Amino acid sequence: MNLVDRIAGLKQRLRLACEAAGRDPERVELLPVSKRQPLTLIREAAALGFSRFGENYVQEGADKAAAEPELAFLLIGPLQRNKAKAALQHFREIQSLDRPELAERLRRLAAELQVVRPVWIQVDLWNEATKLGGCPEADLPALLAALAGDPNLPLRGLMAIPPPEDDGAFAQLAALRDRLQQDLGHALLLSMGMSSDLEAAVRAGTDQVRIGTAFFGERVH
Ligand SMILES: *Cc1c(COP(=O)(O)O)cnc(C)c1O
Repeated sequence: MNLVDRIAGLKQRLRLACEAAGRDPERVELLPVSKRQPLTLIREAAALGFSRFGENYVQEGADKAAAEPELAFLLIGPLQRNKAKAALQHFREIQSLDRPELAERLRRLAAELQVVRPVWIQVDLWNEATKLGGCPEADLPALLAALAGDPNLPLRGLMAIPPPEDDGAFAQLAALRDRLQQDLGHALLLSMGMSSDLEAAVRAGTDQVRIGTAFFGERVH
């Protein structure tokens, strides 16, 4: 299947999911995840109207951002502290903020570089722990305190990768988003749902789905 057909199928899936949930499809962002996909495909997607892409690895995303400065790459993969500066330089948003030390480091570097980078807090409510990253709920107050409403790093929302077999996970995230919105006094978006579970995420109220394989096909290397 080519990219045009795959995207058409995906948009149809999203439309049906929104219809079933009584939601406006315009209010759910389809974020293509281009990790381990070649620039040629990213350029094809750009020609079809997509301008924002999720990337997991700092170096790979930095190379693509350098090659395509008109496009916006968002970091959705785990961020090590020694890559924090490169991440701020090459990515327009950081979705994988998950610990206070990282927030402090990003604040220092964003001030130094004089850049504004919207951030999303990646949460882990299921103690999946480790390799996927994510802030446990108990550590959220410390992370928010470390972020301290810094205007260089405006908080956009919450991102999560819930365990695939957990039916209640998306609703749990939506409830957490609602609580935090109340506490903070401003709107927060939800980034949840991937190729295999976008319908459930839409039903639970996601604002953004992050789609890799269902958009681009199998990853190449
Ligand atoms: C790879 C990845 C995706 C996309 O996954 P697919 O199953 O290919 O749609 C979404 N979010 C994150 C954080 C990822 O690492």
